Amino acid sequence: MKKIRIPILLLLALFLGGQALPARAQGGIRVLSDKVTLQFPNSATFTAEFSSGANITEVALEYGVDQLTCGTVVAKAFPEFTPAADVTVTWTWEMLQSGSLPPGATLWWQWQVTDAGGAQFTSPKKTVTWLDDIHAWQTISGGNINLHYYEGGESFGRELHDAATAAMTRLSREVGLRPAKPVDIYIYANTDDLKAAILYEPSWVGGQAYPAHNIIIIGISQSNLEWGKSTEAHELTHVLVGQLTFSCLGFIPTWLNEGLAMVGEGGLDSYQQGLLDQAIADNTLPSLRALTGGFSEEATRASLSYAASYSVTNYLITTYGQAKMNTLLTSLRDGSTADEALLAIYGFNVDGLDDAWRASIGAAARSGTSNPTPVPTPTVVPTIAPYSGAPVTPYAPTPLPTKTTTPGTTATPDPFGTLRAYATQTAAALAANATPTPQPPLTERLGISSEVLLVIEFAVVCGVIAIAAVAGPILLTVRRKHRRKS
Ligand SMILES: [Zn+2]
Repeated sequence: MKKIRIPILLLLALFLGGQALPARAQGGIRVLSDKVTLQFPNSATFTAEFSSGANITEVALEYGVDQLTCGTVVAKAFPEFTPAADVTVTWTWEMLQSGSLPPGATLWWQWQVTDAGGAQFTSPKKTVTWLDDIHAWQTISGGNINLHYYEGGESFGRELHDAATAAMTRLSREVGLRPAKPVDIYIYANTDDLKAAILYEPSWVGGQAYPAHNIIIIGISQSNLEWGKSTEAHELTHVLVGQLTFSCLGFIPTWLNEGLAMVGEGGLDSYQQGLLDQAIADNTLPSLRALTGGFSEEATRASLSYAASYSVTNYLITTYGQAKMNTLLTSLRDGSTADEALLAIYGFNVDGLDDAWRASIGAAARSGTSNPTPVPTPTVVPTIAPYSGAPVTPYAPTPLPTKTTTPGTTATPDPFGTLRAYATQTAAALAANATPTPQPPLTERLGISSEVLLVIEFAVVCGVIAIAAVAGPILLTVRRKHRRKS
C-alpha cells in the first residue's frame, strides 16, 4: 500500500528555510513541522511532518519563485512516502536540474495533503530568501535601493549605495524610469565569490541583472570601486527598463536597451567619445538596424556600438523628451515593432531616426537603401563582469567561452533579453587604464561574442516559448509513476 509519485519538474525555483508552523487542523490533518534547508547554490530541501486521524495517502509540494512571468508557473512535486497516520516527507529541489536562481530571489512553497478519509489540507504558503549564508551580509536601504554587501566596511557599502541611488535619480530625471519597487543589489567581494554563488554561468561573468527578479549581482573588489559604480548604474538601467517593458510580446532593440544603460551610467567616457568621433570622421558609423541585434564580438567595434547606441538614444531623449521615450518603451512592450512605435510617436521609422540622428551629430548620410528588419531578433545585451582572468591588453577582445551552458538563465527567461552576463577586464587591465593612453570602458565595452549572445538569446527565446506554452495549464507536473497497492 503505497503511493509512489515521483516528482519532476520545475521551471523556476528557489528555496527558503522556514520554521515549524503552528499545528493547524483542517479536516483532521495537522502539520507538525514545515521547513526548508538551503544548500546554496545547489539545492533546497523541503521537509514536513503531517498527522491525521486517518492514513495520509497523498502529499504534494507546490513551489516557485517570485518573479515577473508571462504566465503562472508553479512546479509540483510528489515526495515518496508510505501512507500512515503520521508521515514525514522530504523533497529536494536540485538547481542543477532546474537552473540556478539569482541570489536574493524569494522562494515560496506549500503542501497539499489528503488522507484516506478524503480530508484535504493545504499548508500556509511560506517563503525564504535564496542566499548564501557563508557571507555576513549587511544591508543599506534607501532611495529604492537595497544594497547588500559583506566586505569593505560600511564606507564601501555606503559609497556603492550612494552611487546606485544617484543613478536612480538620474534615470528618473533624464529618462523617466522609476522603480516599481526597491531593487536589490548584491555586491560580492570579488568575481570568484560571485561565480561561486551561481551555477552554470560562463567563467567570465562578472555581473548580472535579473529584471524579472528585480535583482542585480556584481562582483566588486575594493580596488574596482569606480568600475563597480558605473556597472551598478548600467545594470540598474536594465532592471528598470525590464520592469517597465516586461511582457511576453515586446522586444527592445539592443541600441535602445544599451543606449539607455549608457545614459544610466552618465554618458560616454573620453575613449568612447573618441571612437564615436573617429567613426563620424571616417564614415564608419554602424547603421541603426545593425545595432538592433547583438553587438560585435570585436572589442573596439563593440565599444563603438555602445557609443553609437548612447548617442542615438541620447538624441531621442534630448530632442523629443523623456515622455516620448517612455511612450516608446511601453509601445514596444505592448508588441509594436521599432518601426511602428517610432513612426507613431516620432513620425519616423528606424531609418528615419538613423538619418535624423546622423544629421544631428554631423555624420554622413546613411548609405544604401533601407532594408527593414522583418522580425527583430531579441538580443541579450552583454553586461560586464569585473573579471580576474589572464591579463588582457586594453582593447584585446576578451576571451569568451566557445559555448555557454546557462541552464540558470533558462530558469529565469527574460523576454527582453535583459539578462546579462558580461566579460570585463582584469585588474591588470584596469590598472593599465590609468595610463595616459585612451582606455576602453571598464564595463561592457570589452569583447562581446556575438556567438555567445546568440546562444544565450536562443536559450532565452526557448525559455519564453516554453513558459508561454504552459502558461495556460499553469502546473507543470510530471507524474512518472502512480502505483497503488492496497
Ligand atoms: Zn548593458
